[in-house]
Amino acid sequence: MRIDPAIQLRLLDLAAVDLSLQQLTHRRANLPETKAIEQAEEQLSTTQSRLMDLQTAHNDLGREMSRLESDTEAVRARQQRNSERMTSGAIKASKDLEAIEHEIATLKRRQGELEDQELELMERAEQIDADLASVTEQRAVIETQRDEATVVRDAEWSRIDDELVGVNTQRAGLIGELPDDLVALYERVAATGTPGAAPITQRRCGGCRLEFDGSTLAHLRAADPDEVVRCDSCGTIQIRTAESGL
Ligand SMILES: [Zn+2]
Repeated sequence: MRIDPAIQLRLLDLAAVDLSLQQLTHRRANLPETKAIEQAEEQLSTTQSRLMDLQTAHNDLGREMSRLESDTEAVRARQQRNSERMTSGAIKASKDLEAIEHEIATLKRRQGELEDQELELMERAEQIDADLASVTEQRAVIETQRDEATVVRDAEWSRIDDELVGVNTQRAGLIGELPDDLVALYERVAATGTPGAAPITQRRCGGCRLEFDGSTLAHLRAADPDEVVRCDSCGTIQIRTAESGL
């Protein structure tokens, strides 16, 4: 391929634009805020399941408490009836009196047990409510962090996107001014992951940094300036400049 060296030189502008595009795309994909948002979401999901567990425990405890209350109520009613029967004087036989006294004592013990259980349940409820409050507060803190990071990330994305639009416009302008076959070659080379074009600097390829050997240098020196030359090793289009050391 033969192209005016002044036009070949413009491939360096295209390579610089492509480098900017790569850097912007990389930055867009690797913002620290994106990582922070992901971490916050993970923490929120852990916090959410912890809250659900606590809420379930809270509800279970509520049911236990109701059962305990109705048991306590039944014992109290039974005691009331017993004491009414005792004071009514209706029970005369000492055997019956003994039986009733025995039941009163048993119910009293039962009442004591139920009161202990109620205390224990109340302590557990207190702990669960304290945990619920602290985890809920924790969740609010994480949500705030996530929301703040989201605002920063979105602003940064929008800034990068504006820049990308500008650089892409610049690229389209450059492509429009360059010969199609040269652009096609450049794109083919760039698609392999190496720079499409790079300057030879101090006898080194600007793409892979390889130092050219004597015969390659001789070939480069002998090549007509119009000739489009490429690195044998990476394929990058070699742009000869005053700094090439040829
Ligand atoms: Zn190379």
